[in-house]
Amino acid sequence: MANPNRLVILGPPGSGKGTQAKLLAKNHGLVHISTGDLLRQNILKQTELGKQAEAVIAQGGLVRTRLIFEMLLDLYEEEKDYVDQFILDGFPRSVKQAEGLSNFLDQKGKPLTRVVQLMLDDEAIVERLVNRRTCPKCGRSYHLISAPPKTPGVCDDDGAKLNWRKDDKEKVIRRRLKTYHEETAPVVEFYQNKGLVVEIDGSQTLEEIQSRISSLLGFCKA
Ligand code: AMP
Repeated sequence: MANPNRLVILGPPGSGKGTQAKLLAKNHGLVHISTGDLLRQNILKQTELGKQAEAVIAQGGLVRTRLIFEMLLDLYEEEKDYVDQFILDGFPRSVKQAEGLSNFLDQKGKPLTRVVQLMLDDEAIVERLVNRRTCPKCGRSYHLISAPPKTPGVCDDDGAKLNWRKDDKEKVIRRRLKTYHEETAPVVEFYQNKGLVVEIDGSQTLEEIQSRISSLLGFCKA
């Protein structure tokens, strides 16, 4: 049997975590778990969690850890096989969350196998995110300058109207970056101390990054 892959992908907002995580999941049979996507689904449905998370996300802060764990435990109750092969994207975002995750996985006897750290500087991130538009239907991401849709504002694949995330406005992006440096950057050190981190230059093309991650993780070519 192939080696298990229980992965976390870390990096500042806009470093391409979500895109890379989706591709890795698709190419290598992993479950992709994005806490940001789960929270946005809750906001769309206006669940109790969604209502509580909405204002925090709009301001670029972090949703309370207790709520994040409840949301993830609900998911785990639905599908216990998730702990076998997964890639976590957007979680953990603080040392407290990282410790909680380690305790949970250690209890199951299924610890993380690797942590991928995407690196990109702040100004490159602001430029990326203010120009990001996403399709609410298929999740495809566009960049208004380097990868625009054929028809402005419309997804090439399914014709849905593209969405400009409220938290992709410059003021909020800068707050998200501040939150990242204060809360999430120490998570990298937490995992470095466990010898789990592989570092990847996030300024390369999507394909280069995917192939670099795949070779560092020892995946066969997809
Ligand atoms: P993302 O799509 O990963 O950039 O997440 C969007 C926003 O959701 C973040 O800026 C946070 O406000 C919130 N969020 C996502 N994941 C977490 C988490 N693990 N802990 C706290 N807040 C989170």
